Amino acid sequence: MTHSTNKSKTDKKLKPEPLVLPAGDKLLLHSCCAPCSGDVMNEIERSGIEYTILFYNPNIHPRKEYDLRKEENMRYAEKLNVPFIDLDYDKDNWFERIRGFENEPERGHRCTLCFDMRFERTALYAYEHGFSTICSTLGTSRWKDFNQINGSGERAASRYPDMAYWTHNWRKGGGSQRMLDVSKEEEFYQQEYCGCVYSLRDTNKHRMDQGRPPIRHGIKYYGKPETDYEAKALAAKEAQTDTDA
Ligand code: SF4
Repeated sequence: MTHSTNKSKTDKKLKPEPLVLPAGDKLLLHSCCAPCSGDVMNEIERSGIEYTILFYNPNIHPRKEYDLRKEENMRYAEKLNVPFIDLDYDKDNWFERIRGFENEPERGHRCTLCFDMRFERTALYAYEHGFSTICSTLGTSRWKDFNQINGSGERAASRYPDMAYWTHNWRKGGGSQRMLDVSKEEEFYQQEYCGCVYSLRDTNKHRMDQGRPPIRHGIKYYGKPETDYEAKALAAKEAQTDTDA
């Protein structure tokens, strides 16, 4: 008897229960980047849920960083053969929306407005295309306020009848570790700030205070030593200087 109880516990550990959507059978997953979405996608796949990824992040600055994050996200979606909806980079609307809150700290009201904007667009797309549940990979990061994200998601979903925002905590049950594992396996691009120009400003200020150089875009990847990229970037710069001289 004791033996069989232990065995069933082991089986349960080896085979986690499939995830279940809170409403309907089609999920629209708002995605912010490849590292935050890698394990989420794997978990959804494992559960046999039909889903589509929606990339709508006009907050990301500068454009080079936006393209890096999006392309990396598309690469993994293509690998898993998941539909990928790429919406506008309407950054002017984003700046308009957060006007007056430029100096808010991260997790403050500026971030609520930023989440609201992205989730409202997600919910609209879901409504227009027959998705019953929406969710976001934004809550994967330990730097984010999970309740703040869920609040924005639920507000957006409540605009439409029979739509739910899925408040599943992707960090739990080993999710945070799996997120790192898949990021390293896939050698995803590793961003070093949340996304907007104000988070870049504040992160660079913090780095300067610590005597570190400002962020350089496109040089850091999970599972690869950063020094390789820094050395390559430096060598390329020196070669360019030699050519220009
Ligand atoms: S810090 Fe991040 S969540 Fe907050 S406003 Fe900037 S991009 Fe949006």
